[in-house]
Amino acid sequence: VLVMTRDITERRGYERRIQHMAYHDTLTGLWNRNALSSALASVLLDLDRSESSPKPKTAALLYLDLDKFKRINDTLGHAIGDDLLKVVAERIGGALRPTDLVTRAETQVDDPLARVGGDEFCVILTTIDNPMDAGRVAARIVEIVGAPIELEGHELVVTPSIGIALMPQDGHDPDTLLKHADRAMYVAKEGGRNRVC
Ligand code: GH3
Ligand code: MG
Repeated sequence: VLVMTRDITERRGYERRIQHMAYHDTLTGLWNRNALSSALASVLLDLDRSESSPKPKTAALLYLDLDKFKRINDTLGHAIGDDLLKVVAERIGGALRPTDLVTRAETQVDDPLARVGGDEFCVILTTIDNPMDAGRVAARIVEIVGAPIELEGHELVVTPSIGIALMPQDGHDPDTLLKHADRAMYVAKEGGRNRVC
């Protein structure tokens, strides 16, 4: 009998790292846009299944973009800008109840917050009973993110603009939903920033 063994621990670790990089943002550890799209697709499928039930489920996508974030980089440098993005990521996570879907690195689909662009974050709220709940969570995030942040001796204030798209009425696929939530976010910007639309 000839037994051959090979230690594949290193290869498995490498594969896990590649897998992690494909779905996570390296700066904040949050999900990236790919991971968010997959989560949205699965939430939409779940909503479709509940459509014929006596109490169909509803969910919401929040699209957040920081206001005038470029000025932080321009005046204090990219490194402080990066630190600020990490603080904002933590604050958004903290503003969500544990049952809200936040896309955090260690957690799986039932806890989603994603960083989808430079200063853009998305949250999927799957536990809301009605659209007003989504508005309330978004307003809480605006308040918490907009509170002063102490960083390297500077007191910084960075406010967010948030757009909300509701599921399933504002889109039956991830791209359409993201487009509508992004559009709502731009309406918030046009309306004067530091607000929810
Ligand atoms: P607006 O209110 O219109 O959103 O103004 P803004 O300055 O925030 O502009 P916009 O959202 O279009 O641009 C985001 C800026 O974020 C662009 C870039 O300077 C900065 N940025 C993008 N990615 C990163 C990053 O990884 N780190 C840092 N520090 N800055 C980033
Ligand atoms: Mg911005």
